Amino acid sequence: TCGICVEKCPFDAIEIINLPNELQDDPVHRYGENAFSLYGLPAPQEGQVTGILGPNGIGKTTAVRILAGELEPNLGRHDEDIDWDDVLEAYRGTELQDYIEDVRDGDVTVARKPQYVDQIPNSFDGNTRQLLEQTDERGALDELVERLEIGPVMDHSIDDLSGGELQRVAIAATLARDTDFYFLDEVTPYLDIGQRVTAARLIQELAEEEDRSMLVVEHDLAILDLLADTLHVAYGEPGAYGVITSPKSVRNGINEYLSGYLDNENMRIRPNPIEFEEHAPRSGGHGDTLIEYPDLTKSYGDGEFTLEVESGKIRENEVLGIVGPNGIGKSTFAKLLTGNLEADEGDADLDLNISYKPQYVTIDQHMRVDAFLSSITDQFGSSYWNTEIAQPLQLERIMEQNLSDLSGGERQRVAIAACLSDSADLYLLDEPSAHLDVEQRVQATSAIRRYAEQQDATVLVIDHDIYMMDLLADRMMVFDGEPAAHGRAGTPQSMRGGMNDFLANLEVTFRRDERTSRPRINKPDSQLDKQQKSDGEYYYAP
Ligand code: ADP
Ligand code: ADP
Repeated sequence: TCGICVEKCPFDAIEIINLPNELQDDPVHRYGENAFSLYGLPAPQEGQVTGILGPNGIGKTTAVRILAGELEPNLGRHDEDIDWDDVLEAYRGTELQDYIEDVRDGDVTVARKPQYVDQIPNSFDGNTRQLLEQTDERGALDELVERLEIGPVMDHSIDDLSGGELQRVAIAATLARDTDFYFLDEVTPYLDIGQRVTAARLIQELAEEEDRSMLVVEHDLAILDLLADTLHVAYGEPGAYGVITSPKSVRNGINEYLSGYLDNENMRIRPNPIEFEEHAPRSGGHGDTLIEYPDLTKSYGDGEFTLEVESGKIRENEVLGIVGPNGIGKSTFAKLLTGNLEADEGDADLDLNISYKPQYVTIDQHMRVDAFLSSITDQFGSSYWNTEIAQPLQLERIMEQNLSDLSGGERQRVAIAACLSDSADLYLLDEPSAHLDVEQRVQATSAIRRYAEQQDATVLVIDHDIYMMDLLADRMMVFDGEPAAHGRAGTPQSMRGGMNDFLANLEVTFRRDERTSRPRINKPDSQLDKQQKSDGEYYYAP
């Protein structure tokens, strides 16, 4: 046994090699006999952004409900009468003592941004302005609306907003509240990098300038690194138990997480490290050309939006990363390739069979996951399919569930599996990282790469997570221009050239962490930032 239970493990959680110290103590909360237990709590600090890094299903929501005073923790003694005074006693002398005292006295107010913004329209009728005005307790709405670029959709019905718009509205609604404690469960899904950086700055400013406590769960590591002042790593066995570590520095927390080994806890959380290559890793596959397209242009309406595409070649057997801001024409380009849309000038004229995963995954039929996937491929259930698709995408546990009951991350994994399982000449995945936790991003990345290699498949991936793009792509295609007005698509190029073009547009440079070679965003105007900009080396700096 792993030591949590005395007898046979009810959770199949017996692979734990050494018992983490935390598990020798009592949990903070246990939902019932043999039910999920949470060990450790994050410690929000006034004036600071506290990050949590770890998989879904590990007790973040449980922890936040405790910190919000909604759930009275039972210290693992679910059959005893435990109250806040007992909890306070258990935390006396820790960094949480003052906080828990305030919770006990009913003095903590909380604002919360939910993880799945796609569900907001189900609980709110009205337009953006009506939603936001209800929340404007700090009188900060005008600034939030301006910086998050919500202005154009202020009078749109919440039902009509895209995921990226809903995300920004939800962030504004949370930050406009006047509370002590703010909890944001993932800020980046559906946002482009510029929007991610803006959201990070707004959260930091609220902490620094107004002395508030911010707690953020985030799976985009480049943004988490930029955003947080301290970090708790969370690990455990989803559904069985979760451990939230003591706070670490952000740099150490992310490095230890990537290395798979937590130093202070003396705990291995993953068999293999996640490693980044220091220098431009792949200069692009050398495969034969799969597609060659000429210069193309496409306008909508009376030229409200115009896209110009520079001619290019897509190779067989490569993963081509596509980056650029939202509203710049990436999906339009994809539709020109698939023949769903005809160019005004130039003719893509492609006779290709394309398997497409859209950005907003809408599979929600009343159908079981296994029935859905077996209707797509007759490989379903073969040992090849199980090893290459089902296992890395962690589908086994959800095979018998209904599509309509899946969480956002589960639905994403099913949609990636469905896209890759179809037989096609070209696979196109639009934002596969959305709602996947870090671990799932890494696994999905390797599933997509292995699939491309083994099936001689060509895969196009649109995504905003820089780390994922670095691990995933052989070459890059960069879009720039002015969102919603005009876009320009460059020809596919090497990773180094692509990252340089892309990051030059954003004026963001990355340095390398000395210990792990992990890319880290430079402080604007720091010496390295200036040096790299003048050298034109934004990402793979020597
Ligand atoms: P996260 O936010 O990290 O995804 P949660 O805190 O929501 O995780 O849930 C952690 C675990 O606790 C899950 O396995 C969930 O099923 C379980 N759980 C959540 N609420 C309850 C409850 N009221 N009773 C029993 N188990 C629960
Ligand atoms: P991206 O995929 O980069 O976010 P899109 O290709 O979806 O960008 O859209 C680019 C611009 O074209 C946006 O301003 C969008 O509103 C506009 N647009 C997209 N489809 C249509 C359409 N069918 N009619 C009019 N405008 C459209």
